[in-house]
Amino acid sequence: MDQRKTKALLLEKLYAPYKNCKNCLLKLTTQHNFVCGYGNPAARLVFIGEAPGKHEDEQGLPFVGKSGMLLTKALNCLDISREDVFITNSVKCRPPQNRKPTPQECQLYKPLLLKEIDIIQPVVICTLGATALEAILQEPAHMSSMHGKELSFHGTILIPTFHPAYILRDPRKFDMWFADLQKAWQLSQARK
Ligand code: URA
Repeated sequence: MDQRKTKALLLEKLYAPYKNCKNCLLKLTTQHNFVCGYGNPAARLVFIGEAPGKHEDEQGLPFVGKSGMLLTKALNCLDISREDVFITNSVKCRPPQNRKPTPQECQLYKPLLLKEIDIIQPVVICTLGATALEAILQEPAHMSSMHGKELSFHGTILIPTFHPAYILRDPRKFDMWFADLQKAWQLSQARK
């Protein structure tokens, strides 16, 4: 079996127990979807967002709302499709009232996130927004000074950048954000 198929099966096995709402790590009592990561299970570049929103919860896919459309468009401008990379979230269920996941909630999901990374073994991880960066580094993150920097995490290169929702609110930051995405992609293709 090729590497991609093996990794896809491993991810499927990893996600299976969580697909039942009764096993929700957030202990949500409302009906909701567990939103798995999406894309190439053998991707060299993995994006990590915050948590699913309304559209992601409805469709069971990460980054399919307004933020997701912007991310997809930016990737397409770099000649990358969503199927070339892997897109996941720090927290896999939509927190109530669409609020940000708390650091404690992010920590509940961290072992799952690390297992995803161990299976995929990307060259580069690109975090989208401060919540995702803080979730993995477990320390306060300042996006204005940290975005685009080449850091390291869990045996991979880590490139933090802004969340696409922030770019939608402040389009003047688009060029900076796009340059970070481009850097993450180029590094992922150049190394290993
Ligand atoms: N925002 C996120 O952080 N993740 C999603 O999947 C959608 C919006």
